[in-house]
Amino acid sequence: MDKKLKLTDDILLSVEKPARYLGNEINVVGKDINDIDIRFALCFPDVYEIGMSHVGLSILYDFLNKREDTFCERVFSPWDDLEKIMREKNIELFSLESQDDIKAFDFLGFTVQYEMSYTNILNTIDLSGMAVYSKDRSEDDPIVCAGGPCTYNPEPIADFIDFFYIGEAETTLSEILDLYKIHKNNGGTKEEFLIKLLDIEGVYVPKFYDVTYKENGEIKDFKPNHKNAKAKIKKQIVMDLTNAPYPSKPLVPLIQTVHDRVVLELFRGCARGCRFCQAGMIYRPLREKDVNVLKKQATELIKNTGHDEISLISLSSSDYTGLEELTNYLIDEFGNDKHVNLSLPSLRIDKFSLDIMSKVQELRKSSITFAPEAGSQRLRDVINKGITEEDILSGSSQAFKGGWTRVKLYFMLGLPTENYEDIEAIAKLGQDIVEEYYKLPKEVRKRKPQIVVSTSFFVPKAFTPFQWTAQDTYETFMEKQTFLNKKINKKSIKYNCHDAKTSMLEGVMARGDRKISKVIYSAWKNGATFDAWSEFFRFENWENAFEENDIDPLFYSSRERDFEEILPWDFIDTGVTKEFLYREYLRAKEGIVSENCIDSCMNCGAKSFGGGICYVD
Ligand code: SF4
Repeated sequence: MDKKLKLTDDILLSVEKPARYLGNEINVVGKDINDIDIRFALCFPDVYEIGMSHVGLSILYDFLNKREDTFCERVFSPWDDLEKIMREKNIELFSLESQDDIKAFDFLGFTVQYEMSYTNILNTIDLSGMAVYSKDRSEDDPIVCAGGPCTYNPEPIADFIDFFYIGEAETTLSEILDLYKIHKNNGGTKEEFLIKLLDIEGVYVPKFYDVTYKENGEIKDFKPNHKNAKAKIKKQIVMDLTNAPYPSKPLVPLIQTVHDRVVLELFRGCARGCRFCQAGMIYRPLREKDVNVLKKQATELIKNTGHDEISLISLSSSDYTGLEELTNYLIDEFGNDKHVNLSLPSLRIDKFSLDIMSKVQELRKSSITFAPEAGSQRLRDVINKGITEEDILSGSSQAFKGGWTRVKLYFMLGLPTENYEDIEAIAKLGQDIVEEYYKLPKEVRKRKPQIVVSTSFFVPKAFTPFQWTAQDTYETFMEKQTFLNKKINKKSIKYNCHDAKTSMLEGVMARGDRKISKVIYSAWKNGATFDAWSEFFRFENWENAFEENDIDPLFYSSRERDFEEILPWDFIDTGVTKEFLYREYLRAKEGIVSENCIDSCMNCGAKSFGGGICYVD
């Protein structure tokens, strides 16, 4: 039987990549809605090709659909060509699987991966035919929820979301659905359901909390206004990753997406403690997946998808204890006559990692990527990057000896305590790497090395040791970039730079409070959507939004906070304590390096989860 489609052939033929809207991928889930109790619309608020490449979405889709009583369907942001048609013809947003309107669902759940997708969240709710502010939505509208790394500071989007789920879905999300099923069968209001949710760990319902502000704009008080609302919301994480559910038949899109490959998740969390890195702090402690399970999953996933690439992902893959065994196995099993490529992002610059890379890229030595983040040793110590100049140079030299000639280097401008000598050191480090190449004997040097230096701008994030620090202003960012641009030797190094406007906005939203929701709303009303896309991003939409709401963005981005100040996200408990983060901030200012969790425990607080690397001798 042909699938019923929401869009007519005329519309589908008039938009770019109509396959984005069909929902007919390989391994797509289909269920009879008469046989299920809960309809969940899972939204990645960006275009199809980005959302479909996100492993978190795939895990959630699989996890929710494993429940017999639940049908989880996908929703993405329609590209602007379709959005125009939908608005002209009053077509409401629909799910891909059943092609039903989102309004017919019980839940609309967002996975929020980056701040610049906030206006797309509002746009999705609006295109679904609902009011964007939670308080204005009706009893018949789906319950709107959100999770993902950005929701560790949920406040900037708190006014649009009915409840947040803080942590990993494979834990108490099931309890939420069980509770909803009972609630739906017994009847009751949305408000009654939200009150019941207050008993579940990891759930934050913004309407049951009040915020008051001091005259200077800082938070005066943040407290529950309902007796059942918890003072602290504890993040929920899976301690046994080996036995956690993982999709064995992930969706295979029929059009090219950003990453068309099988993904193996080595571990969650990170042992390294880089002070700028939010993921490294909020996903603590480090929890590994057993190597034998990964081998089994690789075989199953290749068989069920037909992909020709396996990617091993984690925050720092060199730290995976079974890395050598796993890569050897994958190369033997899939590499030779089966022609399956392996990709290994997030490796450190050391001999062990380069040996592994050599095996992985034996035939096709594409490029090798290092992320020193800062040019000088002084600044690398401030951010606790844990690599020395010597590591970088000897790593580059080994890479050149191993046959790589293209080296990509990533740095950040505007890191705390940065001065112009640190910036100049980026240019020097790039040049020193070029010189490492020319130290090789002539007969080994096959072609000119390609060294690419890329810089981004530092954005201080919640739950990092730099959550108190002032971000550079737009003007300072651009001055620093111009300075570096002049210092880099363009004859031997290619320099990729950017505009700092989105970094500045990220800086506001990453540490914003509830007042920022008005700004997001105004920016969206002014026409902002797809802000992560340079072709759509219009800074004026945001400048006007700040002005209309009389909000100074610099108050959020470029202000140093005191330890005593109540931060908008203080009520979320990630396990890592505020005291630890502040200790790390003070050590950063002194340039004191802290040990990684493999060598020694710095007492961050994540031990409270009772497992992970913290419990390994
Ligand atoms: S408790 Fe110790 S070992 Fe565990 S994540 Fe924190 S610092 Fe690392």
